[in-house]
Amino acid sequence: MSASSSFVVALDVGGTSMKGGLVSDSGAVLLSERRPTPREQGPEAVVAAIRDFIGHLAASGDGRPAGVGLAVPGLVSADTALYAANLGWKNVPAGDFTPLDVPILLGHDVRTGGLAESVLGAGRGVPDFLFLPIGTGIAGAMIVHGEPYGGASGWGGEIGHIPVFPDGEQCACGQFGCLETYASAASVGRRYSLRSGQEGVRAEQVVASDDPMAIEVWDEAVEALSLALATYTLLLDPSMIVLGGGLAEAGPALLDPVRTRLVKRLTFRDAPPLRPAALGVDAGMLGAALLGWRAADRPDLGPGWTVDVRAEPLVS
Ligand SMILES: [Zn+2]
Repeated sequence: MSASSSFVVALDVGGTSMKGGLVSDSGAVLLSERRPTPREQGPEAVVAAIRDFIGHLAASGDGRPAGVGLAVPGLVSADTALYAANLGWKNVPAGDFTPLDVPILLGHDVRTGGLAESVLGAGRGVPDFLFLPIGTGIAGAMIVHGEPYGGASGWGGEIGHIPVFPDGEQCACGQFGCLETYASAASVGRRYSLRSGQEGVRAEQVVASDDPMAIEVWDEAVEALSLALATYTLLLDPSMIVLGGGLAEAGPALLDPVRTRLVKRLTFRDAPPLRPAALGVDAGMLGAALLGWRAADRPDLGPGWTVDVRAEPLVS
């Protein structure tokens, strides 16, 4: 590796925007930029936009990047973006995403964020935990022995579609009573709006409200989360649960009741402590940087990095 290859290109692709950056071998974020994801223009346009963004980021660096790490939604292997319902693509090889002749590694968006939380964030030094970002939807990254676990075919971690209320509302996925239908930030806002007749209420407002209808909607969200987390705890025995995404900004208003309900639900074993995620919206991009360095054959990088993260206490 030459001295000029002391950075990688990292890109986290979401349904509405892409966050990209250049990250050095010491973990310094040399550049960070955001662009919209043109998903309404179809999958080819999204692939072209990613390719263009990676080219632009690489050209902004001093010299040639050592590697590229790319986090994408859907079903993904290290070298192919297999399928993404929200972006519409199927079986896109990694090479199509980059104009550069440097090694590239792909990762699943949530698992890549979980990797960053594991190596540099709230899960640093904790080998087994669940990273659960709660945003528009809910998906989890199961961190097993320090690495995200995707299961046999890459669908592992879809905790948002665990049926928590079997006779409950139908989910967008077709199943009934999914966790996501009750406890995602979008669902909490939607369910309160439906009940109260007030349009466009955000989850944060519901959490902070003393309106009995808001309390009821929030209580059902907490109940759904505690059920899903009890299931996860009994199956995988995590030493911690890291809550992230927009809803985790509610802090103790989310963590305290979920933790209380979880403790009450588990009768014969201790409940794991809960902790807010540390890396916020940067988790995916930082995880992509770790993938970029792995692509460049530097899997040792990451644990020694000091990134500016919020230090939050465990709730136990
Ligand atoms: Zn579902």
